[in-house]
Amino acid sequence: MKAAFLTGIGRIEIRDAPDPKLMRPGDVLLRVATVGVCGSDVHYFRAGRIGCQVVEYPWMVGHECAGRVVEVGAEVKHLEVGQRVAVDPLISCGQCDQCRQGRQHTCRNQRFLGCPGQLPGALAEYLVLPAECCHPIPEAMTFVRATLVEPFSIGLYAQRRASAPPGAALAVLGSGSIGLCVLLACRAAGAGAVYVTDLVEERLELARRCGASWTGNPRRTDIVAAIRELEPLGLDYVFECAGEQETLDQGVALLKPGGTLLIVGIPEDVRISFNIDLLRRKELRIENVRRQNQCLAPAIEMVAHGAVDLDPLATHHFPLAEAQAAFELVAGYRDGVVKAIIHLSPPS
Ligand SMILES: [Zn+2]
Ligand SMILES: [Zn+2]
Repeated sequence: MKAAFLTGIGRIEIRDAPDPKLMRPGDVLLRVATVGVCGSDVHYFRAGRIGCQVVEYPWMVGHECAGRVVEVGAEVKHLEVGQRVAVDPLISCGQCDQCRQGRQHTCRNQRFLGCPGQLPGALAEYLVLPAECCHPIPEAMTFVRATLVEPFSIGLYAQRRASAPPGAALAVLGSGSIGLCVLLACRAAGAGAVYVTDLVEERLELARRCGASWTGNPRRTDIVAAIRELEPLGLDYVFECAGEQETLDQGVALLKPGGTLLIVGIPEDVRISFNIDLLRRKELRIENVRRQNQCLAPAIEMVAHGAVDLDPLATHHFPLAEAQAAFELVAGYRDGVVKAIIHLSPPS
């Protein structure tokens, strides 16, 4: 089969790789249809690492994917050949203290698709996964939508972690694909005013289409002053979705006393700082959000029933042969890109 490999900083090569085989009776073989380029994939592309997770080349990345089942192991019950599925990229052990507490996403023995040293990624024509990772999708759901379900499930998990009461005033700082997914999830849950910021104008335009009540570009506007003018008491919740010191500081400034900062973005540096005086005076709560614990199935439901429309997020499309161009586009924030989708097999 053909697969895309990271072979160095900023370099992707399409190479031949052995076709993967079913290893356990609970496995399925997928023909991968589409893979979304995630911000975390781009971290590996640009820096070769996220924190302590370091790429050893060559390495296959990619974890936002959808495809069709082409073979099932003897013990697989809920899937059959030909079925179309969305993929939960996490394999958890089911045994450790975290799994037993329903925290599969922090499983101590986890393996995550495309994560260095854990599981080869999805940017390949075929992929073997445990059947539990594969969620059937309705016939009417396109593979592109089923791929976008993965980042949307992160937005849904972040929204559920906040559990903001209806009508709460909130901000989403950074409106790349994850920020927009947080916005969509909060809108679907009945949020009040949602203030959205980004450095890229096209993303702000998309945020307005996705239900933002106000958008601002920090390059042009003092966004803290502008939002404060509209919300003199401050905001209840801020979702930091850019992974930057500047947006974390804005979040702290924008929150009202007792407000909650949710850190969804992944900073490139392992250390960030906070103004402890402000944190303490306002008694702010800080929540970290990691991936999408058990939110993939409800995300599929919401998309299937039209509670959210993810289609506008897929702004660019590439064949596998042009994976390098797709990653460069996303890494350079060029051409108003939100989500680049790589197509590995003809649509069907
Ligand atoms: Zn991702
Ligand atoms: Zn576990």
